[in-house]
Amino acid sequence: MKWRGRRTSRNIEDRRGSNGGFFGGSGPRIRIGGSRRGGMRGGGAKLGGLGAIIVVVIALIFGGDLSSLLGPGGGDYTAPEARGPNTIGDPSEEFVAVVLADTEEVWTALFRQYGETYQPPTLVLFEQSTPTACGQGNAATGPFYCPADRKVYLDLSFFRVLESRLGAGGDFARAYVIAHETAHHVQNILGILPNANPERARVSEARANEISVMIELQADCLSGVWARQAEARFGALEPGDIEEALNAAAMIGDDTLQRRSGGTVMPDSFTHGTSEQRVRWFRLGYDSGSMDVCDTFSARRL
Ligand SMILES: [Zn+2]
Repeated sequence: MKWRGRRTSRNIEDRRGSNGGFFGGSGPRIRIGGSRRGGMRGGGAKLGGLGAIIVVVIALIFGGDLSSLLGPGGGDYTAPEARGPNTIGDPSEEFVAVVLADTEEVWTALFRQYGETYQPPTLVLFEQSTPTACGQGNAATGPFYCPADRKVYLDLSFFRVLESRLGAGGDFARAYVIAHETAHHVQNILGILPNANPERARVSEARANEISVMIELQADCLSGVWARQAEARFGALEPGDIEEALNAAAMIGDDTLQRRSGGTVMPDSFTHGTSEQRVRWFRLGYDSGSMDVCDTFSARRL
C-alpha cells in the first residue's frame, strides 16, 4: 500500500506510555468531526436511501436499544501473545493514521451520496489494557470496536501476531483489520449494531452466533468496498495488496482458527464466518465497490 507521506487522521487517541511515537507527547486526543447524532435508535431510519440498503430489513426483524455486541471479550480475533522475532519491523502508527484517514474520506463520500454526514470514529492506540465503555479492553483479544463509545481499540503489537501467529503478513492485511473495525463503526451509526445486539440476547446461542456471522461478513464486505474506493480515489493500492487482504480474511476464518488451535471445527460456534465466506464477502464488496451488495441479512447464501 502506498501510504508514506500521505494525510494522517487526527482522530487518534494515544493512550500509550510516553514513548515519543508519531503522536508522542500529545496526550489523549478527542475525536473531531462534528456533533453527535441524537439517539442511536433513530440512526438507521434517518439514513433514508442509504439505510434502505442494509438497515431496513434488519430493522424490521430486530428492535431495541444500543448494547454491546462487540468490544472486549467479544472481539474479532483469537490473538495469542506475540512472541518470537519481529519480522515486520515497528508497526507504524503513522500507517494506522493514514489508513484511518482513508476510511474517513471514503465513508464521508459514500454517505454524502445519500445526503448523510459520516461521523468518524476515534481510534485508540493502547498497550496491553485500557478501559472502554464496553468493559476493560485487553490486547489479548485483538483489535475491537466498542459501539457504546464509538471507538476502535488497537494495540499495535497485534500486527506482529497477525503476521507471525495468524499467517497474515503484508501492510494491506493490516489495512484490512483497520477497515474491518471501522466497518463496525459504519454498522453502528447505520443502526445495525443497535438493532442486532438486543436480538442476539433474546435468541438461542446458535441463532445469536448466526446473527454475529451476518454482522461480521457484512463488515468484511464493507472492508472490500473501502479497498476498492481507496484504490479508485487515492491510487493507494499496489500489486499484491488485495491478495494480502484476502489471505488475512482466510486466516481469521472461524474454521481455520479452530483447526489451528487443534480443536474440532464446530459450525454452530462460528461467530465470524468461515474462511471461504470471509474471502467471498470481502471480494464481493471489492469487486462492486458499492454497499448495495453487502446486505448479508437478506442474502440467500451467506
Ligand atoms: Zn468484526
